[in-house]
Amino acid sequence: MNFKIINEILTFQDLIYVSTRCKQKMINNHHKSIIHEHQDSNKIIEKISRIYYFSKIRKQIKDIIRKCNVCIYIKYNQHEFYKLLKSFSTLNHA
Ligand SMILES: [Zn+2]
Repeated sequence: MNFKIINEILTFQDLIYVSTRCKQKMINNHHKSIIHEHQDSNKIIEKISRIYYFSKIRKQIKDIIRKCNVCIYIKYNQHEFYKLLKSFSTLNHA
């Protein structure tokens, strides 16, 4: 069996096992921390999966980050910024 209890912490294959109840808060804490500052899901997956284990880790992290209001806001504004740049570029070449 790959589960062990080390110093009163449940581990799975030497990673800290995170219960279903805690994983959303843990993902949000990583994603929204001052250190990580809303990094994309691949970077958060890499960092979390080095230490923690829970089922469907990639999908869970991507789903939670995709719903982050700050990231949605930033993506929308970047898209609008590039549309504006493109319109200036078109004007200069006309
Ligand atoms: Zn975010």
